[in-house]
Amino acid sequence: MIIVMRVGSSDEQLKKVIGRIEELGYRTHIMYGVERTVIGALGDERGKDKLLTLNHLPGVDKVIPILSPYKLAGTQLKEGPSQIRVSQDCVIGKGKLGLIAGPCSVESEEQILEAARAVKAAGANALRGGAFKPRSSTYSFQGLGEEGLKMLAMAREETGLPVVTEIIDHHDIDLIERYADVFQVGARNMQNFTLLKALGGTRKPILLKRGLSARIDELLLAAEYILAAGNPNVILCERGIRTFETATRNTLDLNAIPAIRERSHLPIVVDPSHGTGVWRYVSAMSKAAIACGADGLIIEVHPHPDSALSDGAQSLKPKVFKELVDELEPIARAVGCETLGARVLQQLRQPSAD
Ligand code: PEP
Ligand code: MN
Repeated sequence: MIIVMRVGSSDEQLKKVIGRIEELGYRTHIMYGVERTVIGALGDERGKDKLLTLNHLPGVDKVIPILSPYKLAGTQLKEGPSQIRVSQDCVIGKGKLGLIAGPCSVESEEQILEAARAVKAAGANALRGGAFKPRSSTYSFQGLGEEGLKMLAMAREETGLPVVTEIIDHHDIDLIERYADVFQVGARNMQNFTLLKALGGTRKPILLKRGLSARIDELLLAAEYILAAGNPNVILCERGIRTFETATRNTLDLNAIPAIRERSHLPIVVDPSHGTGVWRYVSAMSKAAIACGADGLIIEVHPHPDSALSDGAQSLKPKVFKELVDELEPIARAVGCETLGARVLQQLRQPSAD
């Protein structure tokens, strides 16, 4: 329920309303607007009728239901898009495009350092690399675990790039938090509600990938689990969905960008590597993603894709990644973005009036 305070209502009145909402067993989410304050009351839908009586309290203008099932991820309680700070130099959303790049898996110290240096030189502002890999086959490389995390931290130390790495088990939160800057929740875990709730108890940003067969509303409902548990720093990721098509690994659903934009304030990045499964298609889809309004990209880059232990076929060589970032620049500028990864974009001159 949304409780809209009157223009000019006092702090005392606001405090009383908040107190009453909490007495009724609801959590409050307060938004201080320029003219008036709005309170979101979050909790059991069954107590709605009691909340409606709040309109008798002094200072309350109206009480209206939150129509969206994803109350915190939706747009009713938050005006305008959100921006999420990953590190000093990596801010994602609202005209700032994140460029997260690196190998699918951390394989060795040399491999991750070489990848980190290369993606940094090309203009990335975050490093990706999996230490815990959710593989379809139990016989495939499962990741280096804590050793891999240490290598990622070493690469961050040298390059300054914040680290994005996947978590597959909520028991690993403390361990991963020691080394990483962003928890990635992979497609296979998008509806692992135990994991989502546990990550809601952390403060670090969460990169939440869309499930293999998840609808957009299911992605937003999954994000809601993290937000409702207390962590507001969620970045959504479109990474392709399962369709009947077999020419590509997945079907990159770029419809999701405007569709999510309309429904949510959360930033959304696109993963054209898993979205296509073919390195040759990654550039085209990256450009399309930025053109249609994505807040960033997460791209697999490997110094030697032919010997990669996972996802070599979709990984770019550093040189190709650099060329791609160069080609993305004019597109990012054309859609009004301020930054592209570490690069600050010069704005196009506004045409003069005469
Ligand atoms: C990955 O990023 O390497 C990965 C496993 O992605 P997804 O969860 O999207 O399949
Ligand atoms: Mn991968």
